[in-house]
Amino acid sequence: MERLDGRTLSILRREQLRERVQQCHSQTQIAPCLAVVLVGDDPASHVYVRNKIKSCSEVGVKSLEKRLPARVSQAQLIQEVQELNANSDIHAILVQLPLPEGLNSEEVLSQISPLKDADGLVPENLGLLLGDNKRVAPCTPAGVIELLKAHGIPMNGAHAVVVGRSQIVGKPMALLLLAENATVTVCHSQTKDLANHTRQADIVVVAAGRPEFLGKEHFKQGSVVVDVGIHRKANGKLCGDVNSQGLESWLKALSPVPGGVGPMTITMLLENTLMLAELQRGQG
Ligand code: NDP
Repeated sequence: MERLDGRTLSILRREQLRERVQQCHSQTQIAPCLAVVLVGDDPASHVYVRNKIKSCSEVGVKSLEKRLPARVSQAQLIQEVQELNANSDIHAILVQLPLPEGLNSEEVLSQISPLKDADGLVPENLGLLLGDNKRVAPCTPAGVIELLKAHGIPMNGAHAVVVGRSQIVGKPMALLLLAENATVTVCHSQTKDLANHTRQADIVVVAAGRPEFLGKEHFKQGSVVVDVGIHRKANGKLCGDVNSQGLESWLKALSPVPGGVGPMTITMLLENTLMLAELQRGQG
């Protein structure tokens, strides 16, 4: 079984990105800058944001971290986003999800300028995914596509099953696979006989948010499985949505957790930031 190694691919992509960021700076004097808005004290969100900021500095992308207390009002949060929209030194904005209870993330995301939408979650950009003029794609599904391409996994004509239909992963994943000419089935919590669907797939993307939820009995022999899930077990170790027992001699390829989709998600965020900086320069 081949490992869909997102860590190694990310190292390569980020080296190329560092050169492109330098080029952008030397040719235009523009230093691409990502603003990250972090609300509240969720420990996992703090770790994610720290990793994103660190990754920015590694490729020469500037970053600004805006921390707000959990008790911030919806109106104050929206005002912060609007100030970042108006700041021409900021090229991309990310609001770390989930927001604390009481805040409406959909409304907050809809306030981010579509030209500064680092995560590709603003309604206008999600809408563009439906057509042929994609502007910026959500980072995790975009990372999955790049991972499959880099490993030469054929998508054209393949039957792909996506488990999960969230706005962040499942739905855009289905659209991006469709754009690669896969035949796509989307499963969710109300799907009857999930295994009957996943067992027919050439490619299964699992984003159900349930630790070690799918195993060998769910997959066709020789299929490719991408595990998006990430969970911390009681013993402190990380695991995905897939139970890897018995898969080594069964699957064609599997993405590991950690080291598969996770690093690719951050790489896509960095690539989106540079792309948006270039786009704004073009518009300016
Ligand atoms: P959500 O909880 O928003 O969505 C989970 C989806 O899985 C829902 O659509 C739900 O269906 C579906 N689901 C739940 N239970 C079942 C079931 N028994 N059978 C079939 N479908 C089911 O999660 P996200 O999409 O945000 O994230 C999914 C996972 O990916 C999480 O573990 C998350 O931590 C991880 N993640 C990892 C990232 C990375 O960079 N590696 C980035 C983003 C997420 P329904 O809609 O019916 O409720």
